[in-house]
Amino acid sequence: MNTKIKSELKAVIVKTGITMLDEGLTVGTWGNFSLRDPETGLIYITPSGMDYREITEDDIVVLDSELNIVDGSRVPSVEKAMHVTVYNERPDVNAVIHTHPLYSSVLGVNEMELPGISEDFVQIVGDKMVCSEYALPGTTQLARNAVKALGKNNGVLLPNHGTMVVGPNMPMALTICQVVEKTAYIYILAKSIGTPHLISQEDIIAMQDYAQNIYGQR
Ligand SMILES: [Zn+2]
Repeated sequence: MNTKIKSELKAVIVKTGITMLDEGLTVGTWGNFSLRDPETGLIYITPSGMDYREITEDDIVVLDSELNIVDGSRVPSVEKAMHVTVYNERPDVNAVIHTHPLYSSVLGVNEMELPGISEDFVQIVGDKMVCSEYALPGTTQLARNAVKALGKNNGVLLPNHGTMVVGPNMPMALTICQVVEKTAYIYILAKSIGTPHLISQEDIIAMQDYAQNIYGQR
């Protein structure tokens, strides 16, 4: 395996931490994010419990697909097993964000699903976002439960904890993270004043097909 370590990928992780704080998607040192280098298969992940505004490229930890540390002197994120398990199960995924956003976490506390209620959500997250079975943070059981409930979707709710979203790259994973939280907010507001209208499975498929094959500049 090519074990070349890339500083530009460490820089992406550093920058993602600042973006997550600035956009209110995490507070303090909570949450963790990683990306996989498609060329080498190596995984670049945040260190455990460090302030995102203080982290530099030297603090990023590089892991292989068996959780061995390949580069870096810091202790990697406590949720490293969740990240690596996703990469091992989903060849299409090269970025993972785990965080504790407000409205998505409300649904998780109630062990509710987040249905596909808007165009952006069904196009980039999936038909719906389900809630995994509960497990303690930082355990391999949480990693197994999260990846099982994620399935082929790009997001999963973690009960009494937060969310995990995945994407083909970090910019897309960040967008998915934002869309999930926005959709959770809309769903909770809609439920509080009435009965949300759900999109039919037929229309969900039509919108997903449109996003994949027609939408955008061609
Ligand atoms: Zn967490």
